[in-house]
Amino acid sequence: MIIAGVDIGNSTTEISIAKIDEQGYMHFLASAEVETTGTKGTVHNIKGIKEGLRHAMLKERLQIRDLDLIRLNEAAPVIGDTAMETITETIITDSTMVGHNPDTPAGQGVALGRTVLIKDLVEVRHKEAILVMVPKTMDYEFCAKCINAADQNIVGLILQRDEAVLVYNRLSKKIPIIDEVDGIDQLPVGKLAAIEVAAPGMTIKTLSNPYGIAKLFDLSASETSAVIPISKSLIGKKSAVVVKNTDGGMRETKIKAGTLTLKSHNEKSVTVSIDEGASAIMEAVRSIKDLQDIDGEHDTYVGDMLRRMKENLSELSEEASNHLTISDLLAIDTFVPVKVKGALAGEVAMEKAVAIAAMVQADKLPMNRLAKQLEAQVNIPVKVAGVEAVMAVIGAMTTKGTKLPLAILDLGGGSTDAALLDEKGQVRSIHLAGAGSFVTMLIDKELRLDNPMMAELIKRHPLAKVNSLYHMTMENGEVIFHHKPLPPKLYARVVVVTDEELIPIITDLSLERMVTVRQEIKHKVFVTNAIRALEKVAPDGNIRHIPNVVILGGSALDQEIPELIQQELANYNIVAGRGDIRGLMGPRNAVATGLVMSYLSEAFR
Ligand code: ADP
Ligand code: MG
Repeated sequence: MIIAGVDIGNSTTEISIAKIDEQGYMHFLASAEVETTGTKGTVHNIKGIKEGLRHAMLKERLQIRDLDLIRLNEAAPVIGDTAMETITETIITDSTMVGHNPDTPAGQGVALGRTVLIKDLVEVRHKEAILVMVPKTMDYEFCAKCINAADQNIVGLILQRDEAVLVYNRLSKKIPIIDEVDGIDQLPVGKLAAIEVAAPGMTIKTLSNPYGIAKLFDLSASETSAVIPISKSLIGKKSAVVVKNTDGGMRETKIKAGTLTLKSHNEKSVTVSIDEGASAIMEAVRSIKDLQDIDGEHDTYVGDMLRRMKENLSELSEEASNHLTISDLLAIDTFVPVKVKGALAGEVAMEKAVAIAAMVQADKLPMNRLAKQLEAQVNIPVKVAGVEAVMAVIGAMTTKGTKLPLAILDLGGGSTDAALLDEKGQVRSIHLAGAGSFVTMLIDKELRLDNPMMAELIKRHPLAKVNSLYHMTMENGEVIFHHKPLPPKLYARVVVVTDEELIPIITDLSLERMVTVRQEIKHKVFVTNAIRALEKVAPDGNIRHIPNVVILGGSALDQEIPELIQQELANYNIVAGRGDIRGLMGPRNAVATGLVMSYLSEAFR
């Protein structure tokens, strides 16, 4: 007979096909994976299941109707979702600074002077240093002519257009020029201001340092502490303008964030405010061993998110949403770029934020309904067989070199799952919030991509810097030569290197910065969760009692994640590594394989 194991995950539906011969031996024939159609556990999954089955059977030149039995996983009734709450906000209370990274500023150095509009230049009779502001109505030829002809003491230029280099090349006396200042008309006229343009390849050093600003503007100690938010938000910029404004300034305020209330089964509860940050939140989560539910404060971001998640799951499991509970939560501190309120050139400040992944749990998913409908459509017996975590461990045991007690870490899209199978055949399992899609969301936010598809690519593939049309430097320092010239649009760009193509990333972050952000996010999500998950399934809660861990799931295909976990677990003397299901499938297909294998023990019991 021929049987199929079908594992419906949040992201991927995995299939395994095996034949059982007359002697009762099992031979694996084929496997396949397709994207899950619809939310896991709903009848919408059937489309994907059929496609996957067709795919796998075709590899053996068979059809779905040649199957004798389909075994579905008892999918865990959990779904994960993520949200982000910003907890600081930078507000410019008066127009006082411009700091940004125009592609092509010109000149270099610091210049201090009074701001004057170019049209008013002729009226300036004094010899004091001046900074000339040029609105976009004036082109570079005319601008350069005016400046060259002027006999005033002009020390720097602020342009609205993107023409710094064009003007600079035409100047008889070279001065620093900052351009692309969109909000130039909001810069005050007749005020003392400083501009700074960094040397090539460098970032500004004076205006990003509070003492630098203090020296330029002759500030007192208390005035200096007031400019800290300004200097802080100018760190890493290639050019900047700061205008001294006695009554204006910038402030960083804390936004009122929501609170979380964690409830345990014995009615004890702990409340923690989001703005206390991730470690306080995770301390609260850890302090409650038998978490029953988590509530978010009404009318706040977290509150809305937790409510929305419950509603989503209640729709599909047909349970009233008050029967659903938040079973886990992972909070992470991050910085997200947010537009500075009142900024003049679209400046952003890296605001503190807390990102949250949460897991909603229902009593049961309507898997039997799904099984019945599938059976009716394909006319083959369909059985819901076995708990996902148990199946995953059975499948994982086909990895060479493993022995009992064996733990698995299943790194999926929506959740990080762990299970432990001991010598007595007992299994403990847990589903924790935060996995692959949380990592993707964090990359998207922190790198200011606003493009989840791009974030997914950056998560999976290495980066490179295109140095010339014939060569690029990979993030590990390796230099790659191309025989044919690269498309000019890639020149000097950071690119994602996929198997098929080079995709430019439009960003002002350096390659090194992007690599660091990517690795830190993976570490914060998966290493944290690996430890949390193993602690929950370990004998006596001590992960040193787990001898070996097999890492499974889509996120185990990542270039970095399994190694990060391995390194951490080495500290506990645990043998850990990426699974290789049936010595063939890598970290994929464990549950589907387990579903097929468990048939034998059930059939011949
Ligand atoms: P599920 O069991 O929930 O369906 P999967 O095991 O299919 O989830 O894992 C899905 C996750 O795996 C997604 O977050 C996806 O980004 C990630 N993933 C898939 N392939 C790769 C890869 N080659 N490198 C890194 N991550 C990957
Ligand atoms: Mg899975």
